[in-house]
Parts: sequence; C-alpha cells; structure tokens
Amino acid sequence: MPAKTLRLQIIKPMDTTWDVLGELLRDLRYNSAKICNRVIQLCYENENIRKMHKELYGETPKDKDIYGMSFQGWLYQKIRDEFPEIASTIISQTIQYAYKRWRTDKKDILSLKQSIPSFKLDTPISIYNQSYRIENDGDNWTITTNLLPAQKEKQYKYTLLIHSGDNSKITILKRLIDGEYKQGAMQIVQDRKKKWYCLITYSFETKAEKELDDTKIMGVDMGIVNAVYWAFNDSLQRGKIEGGEIEQFRKQIQRRREELQRAIKWAGDSRHGHGVKRALKPIEALREKERNARNMINHKYAKTIVEAAYRHGCGVIQIEDLSGINEEETFLKNWSYFDLQEKIIYKAEEKGIQVIKINPEYTSQRCSECGYINKENRKTQAEFKCISCGYEALADYNAARNIAIQNIEKIIEEELKKQEARVS
Ligand SMILES: [Zn+2]
Repeated sequence: MPAKTLRLQIIKPMDTTWDVLGELLRDLRYNSAKICNRVIQLCYENENIRKMHKELYGETPKDKDIYGMSFQGWLYQKIRDEFPEIASTIISQTIQYAYKRWRTDKKDILSLKQSIPSFKLDTPISIYNQSYRIENDGDNWTITTNLLPAQKEKQYKYTLLIHSGDNSKITILKRLIDGEYKQGAMQIVQDRKKKWYCLITYSFETKAEKELDDTKIMGVDMGIVNAVYWAFNDSLQRGKIEGGEIEQFRKQIQRRREELQRAIKWAGDSRHGHGVKRALKPIEALREKERNARNMINHKYAKTIVEAAYRHGCGVIQIEDLSGINEEETFLKNWSYFDLQEKIIYKAEEKGIQVIKINPEYTSQRCSECGYINKENRKTQAEFKCISCGYEALADYNAARNIAIQNIEKIIEEELKKQEARVS
C-alpha cells in the first residue's frame, strides 16, 4: 500500500483563540523534539548495553533479560513517565517517528560515519491515526484531535478549521471520511511564514489490474466423470472440480426424501387425519436445505473457475449453452447448471472477463488434436481415443479443450461438411 501525504493549512481553532492554540502547539513541538532526542539517546544506550553484554557473556542478550520486556515496550513506559503532561497518543507516535530515524541511521552512527541526530524546533507534532477525525459540515472542513491528555474539566480535544484546497484535495478528504482511503498518522508543522499545517498520511489498496488477453480463452466443460473440467486454448494447463461433494449431497438428500415419503405414506394410511399435513413440513425444510447447499456449492465452484481464468490472464471464458442438454449425458444431472453458469457469468464480469456460450454439440466427439469428429472416438464415457490420429485423453479434458477454441461452432460445422463430402 503506497502512503501519501495531504498538506492542509489550519485556518483557525474553532473552540479557542489563536493565542491559546499557538502557545499549545509551540509547547508540544518543543516537547516532541525533547522526546525524540531522548528516544535516540536511549536507543544508543541500549546498543551499548547489548554490546557490553556480548563482550562479557559471549552472546547477544534478549530484550527481556535487560528490560524484563521488549525494548520498545520499555521505551514507551519510560518516556510516558518522563513526559506526563503529553497525551499518550502523541507520545507513542513521536517515539515511532524518532525510532524510525534511529533504525535508518543506526549503522552509520555506530560506525562513526554520522553523528547522533539531534531534533530541533522544527520537529513535527506527531498524532496517532486513531486520535484525530476529519469532518465536513457543508463548506467547512475540520479536524478534531486530542492535543492534551484526557482530563476532567479541562479541554483536551481541539477542533481546527482547515483550508481544504482544490478539488483533488477535497476528493481525498471525502475518501478518508468514507474509509475508502486508510487514514495514517498526522503531523502538525509550521512553515517559515509561521503558518501551521496538518500533514495527513493516507494509503489505499492498489488493485493490480491484471492484463487480460481476449485471445486467451478458457473452455469449461460440465463433465461426465468430473463435475467441471477446464482447459485453455494456448496451453496444456488444465483444472477440474471433481464434484464428490455434489454426489454425496445428492445421495444424502435422496435418502432423506425416501424416508420422508415413507413417513407420509404411513401418516396417510393411519386413521389420524392430521398426519399428512404434519409430515409435509419436513419436506419443505428439506427443499430449503437443498437450495441453500446448492447455492453455497455453486458459489464456491464459480469462484474457483473464474479465479483460474483470471490467473491465466484469460479475457474470455467459453461455456456450454446447456439449454438443449441431454440430461442422461452429464454428471450434473438434477443439479442446477443454470445457477452455476449464472454465477460464473456474474463473477467473471466482476473481473472483466467476457463469458461466451457455445453450442456443445459434437464437442465431446471431436478430437481436440486433429479435429476429426466421430462417435467412435469415445471409447467409454470417461475415455477419448481418436480413431483417426490415435490421440488419447480424458473425455472431459478433450471436451474442455474443444470448448476453449475460438469459433468452435463454425469449425465443427465445416469439419462435418468436409467429412460428409469425403464419404459421398
Ligand atoms: Zn485425432
């Protein structure tokens, strides 16, 4: 996540005078510099203690052996005790600011290439990201922040009217309020003309838009042995969803249905007339359960398929147009293909992938290697063997490869004509 900074001038405090705020900010800046210098000093001492310990005992000590806790934890407690009049959120952020500087310069300082940094009156006042709030009331943009430790009967929160600047700055501010951008720490600084500014750091996710190629096609076969099988037109890579889950679920539902039907029959036969109505209720519940499970499994499958296409950089997914399907032929009989396909289309669109439905006729009989079409190419339901070129493959994979071909319907049509002409 790249971090950026937004610089906004403070126009005036909303709930006090500039005199009061100015004095408070100057005081905080002075103390921030003092905290930073103290942090660097303690870091330097820590380094020396560790070095001495190593010389004495031959091994680098753990923080816990020296401080009874992590060095950073100890540092925070120490500074907080030394600066009780500073808000703890400013303390922790200021320590971070100085510590970061120490980490960068440490090597050069210890090898005497650089002197220990010293913080002066231009040190920023650092404010933790959770302890300030940006607000907009029509034309006014304000920042409310804790500048003093919370105390009863004493003001510790200050609202600052800020100059929002141009439209691009306003856009950023709006996104910070919406939470679209992540609000980072804030610094308050003064420029040479004695004007005060808020520097807000923010970051956002960069959705690395993957390059999708429209000539790269994934073919998805609703398979026979496997629930789903996919292949690509430009590589030998492939993938599948076995669908054991569906099979298992279907059996379970079937068993339950039979049980219920027996129960209904029994209730109907009995002389207690209310039996049937009561026995029907579990059937409704079973239908509901079936719908929910189907929905969940299809979501999962659609996601898996679309993600595989996306990873491969496919701009197009080709699926079978199953409106004229012969139910006997497929694994997913009774299962809702249409629901699965709809979910694939929906999820693909989100990623910018186009879904094309193709007529699946002959895609399971065509040899994806040489193009020859013949019923005899299907040795069994599961196996494909081309009687023309001898190509052998899993039937589901061969079909998926055909489905992945651009203009496959036209290619099949022409091949059939060619083969017919040869025969006659
Ligand atoms: Zn062949």
